[in-house]
Amino acid sequence: MPLSRSIFTTVIALALSLSAVAGAVEKTAGQVDAARVKTAAKDGANWLLYGRTSDEKRYSPLQTINRNTVGKLGLAWEFDDFVTRGRTTRGEQGTPIVVDGVMYFSSSWNAVYALDAKTGKTLWTYDPEIDGSWARVTCCGVTNRGVAVWKGKVYIGTLDGYLVAVDARTGKQVWRVDTFTDRSRNYAITGAPRVAGNNIVIGNGGAEMGVRGYVTAYDAETGKQSWRFYTVPGDPAKGDEHPELTTARKTWGANSRWDLGGGGTVWDSMTYDPALNLLYIGTGNGSPHPIWNRDPGHPKNDNLYLSSIVAVDATTGRMKWYYQTTPGDSWDYTATQNMILADLDIKGTRHKVIMQAPKNGFFYVLDRETGKLLSAEKFTTVTWADRIDMTTGRPVMTEQADYGQAAKVIWPSQAGGHNWQPMAYSDDTKLVYIPVLEAPMKFMRAVQPDYIRGTIVQGVDAQFPPYEADDKAQKGQPKPVFRSLLKAWDPVTQKLVWQSEEMSYWNGGVLTTGGGLVFQGRNDGSFVVYDAKTGKVLKTIKTGTGILAAPMTYQIDGEQYVAVMAGFGGALTVSYPPGSAAWDYENQSRLLVFKLGGTEVALPPKRVDSELEPLPENYVVKQDRVQRGLELYSTNCLRCHGFQGNVGGYPNLWNMPADVHASFKDIVLGGALSAAGMASFSDVLSEDDVEAIQDFLVEDAKKLRAVTKEGGKKEFRFH
Ligand code: CA
Repeated sequence: MPLSRSIFTTVIALALSLSAVAGAVEKTAGQVDAARVKTAAKDGANWLLYGRTSDEKRYSPLQTINRNTVGKLGLAWEFDDFVTRGRTTRGEQGTPIVVDGVMYFSSSWNAVYALDAKTGKTLWTYDPEIDGSWARVTCCGVTNRGVAVWKGKVYIGTLDGYLVAVDARTGKQVWRVDTFTDRSRNYAITGAPRVAGNNIVIGNGGAEMGVRGYVTAYDAETGKQSWRFYTVPGDPAKGDEHPELTTARKTWGANSRWDLGGGGTVWDSMTYDPALNLLYIGTGNGSPHPIWNRDPGHPKNDNLYLSSIVAVDATTGRMKWYYQTTPGDSWDYTATQNMILADLDIKGTRHKVIMQAPKNGFFYVLDRETGKLLSAEKFTTVTWADRIDMTTGRPVMTEQADYGQAAKVIWPSQAGGHNWQPMAYSDDTKLVYIPVLEAPMKFMRAVQPDYIRGTIVQGVDAQFPPYEADDKAQKGQPKPVFRSLLKAWDPVTQKLVWQSEEMSYWNGGVLTTGGGLVFQGRNDGSFVVYDAKTGKVLKTIKTGTGILAAPMTYQIDGEQYVAVMAGFGGALTVSYPPGSAAWDYENQSRLLVFKLGGTEVALPPKRVDSELEPLPENYVVKQDRVQRGLELYSTNCLRCHGFQGNVGGYPNLWNMPADVHASFKDIVLGGALSAAGMASFSDVLSEDDVEAIQDFLVEDAKKLRAVTKEGGKKEFRFH
């Protein structure tokens, strides 16, 4: 059956843009090494590692752009020649790296780019040509948060599980290794690899979809595996791969759901301390989420090493210490949020600390040599625990936290008080700048599905506000809000110093500089610069593109630049938050680079809604399977395509053109759009199932058109 021309051409468009080697890259390209990392704090010209320096403070000493000059900040250059597939933009979450005038970064679909950081001219592009169908096994979209650069190579972890080393000079692949232990499981990579000693370390995601967490270290030069550390025990019948798992197993019941992986995925943050040769790994939530489903009969078990910071020797992979932020996690409270290393004077003693603001809403300061908890306080509204007991280092949980028997509204939500968007720490103000989320969630334990390829199996139903006023689940809880704030936090006193105005939910990561500034992008397309001391807004640049990524800065020929990747995407592509730039403008991927005396940023084209498509002629709905169609839609389609044309990034199935209706089975079973991220579902859906889904969509589209004014254009967006 024919595909529509527009879909066909967009699928073809994915075959684009391979290496365009311009030959202008120096032979010494990408030469980051231990000696340079050691002095990186003072080397403002470069941004050598993911978080700039090995302590990942995201602080730069550059100060040409400062409180007095920032008013003149404008666009230096823009790059928008991204590798894309299909008609769904997936958003940008990465932080570019700049080494000796060359900028290296990755985008959604895992392409890697090297640009002249002064002009924006493309030096090379590397497209790993990942398996597009892998989009189906991710919880949160085809995104990527960055590359590592080390001794002439650029490293990328691909969505479909490979760690690839690329020549920094030419963009040619040097080696590629499969990092997945089992390709039938729902593993995916979205995080940036980290350099730890002579190793490149990568983790993965999938704890919403039934996997077991681990990280693997590979020799940076050869790609040979150095070690692997599993974060949770596996099936006891298979034995423990390393001694730390034998310790952890004591905190799991024998009948735990090993078939659902246990979780603890390391999908984002790792930080390496070269002086201690320790790699700090932030581990994720349990799989499935509720401990009552995961470890039946043992609701008090800790289930190590879920939601923990784990310190391992970077050479051997052996654990030095761990600290579990959320014992027995049931709330998706990952400890994968970014970790910052600093030296702080606390109660008269200087400590080498590690700081994290994980999803669970407490700001933790630990001694990073020993793992000892130094302090922990709430940085957002928290009701799952009253406080952290400083004697035991454990949270004092509330009754409200227990949703094993009845639904409960609990703060923070599954999205956490802070998510992957990186916070930053200023060496000048000694403050941490946290992109904070404030919202509760109604948690309802659900029937636990078995493992299914490409399907969420978290075992919980969860709802953001609003809630019915008389809903008993929220008894005694604060009035629900759904908002974001940028908070300046004193990590020594554990107190708020200033906070931004309220923002719509889900914004960008943070950069702070020696110019006394804090930079953050917002989902409404604003790029905002604050006074780091007072929180006063000094400059706002309207870009028209939602920003989630963290900005970075560098200097060439005495001129300071600030770069940020723009483009809304990831977990909330299904439903853009109110006020998002993506409601009004085409949601493009862009790399925006600013300097003093730059120009205005051009706004993207206005978003134009599609025409209302007529319902397919002669289509006969079998009424007796519409309800099953809805159920199948909810299980398989909803988490991307949303419901009834809510404003999001994926195609609205309530407004499919006639030829898409005609090709429906080709797409859903045949995988006609697989390369663009719409995988075949033939392993979980029968032909009759697909017809039932289509029946539901046609029937519901008919109803929607009947009940909404002007064919639905007011209440719903037919995009
Ligand atoms: Ca999660």
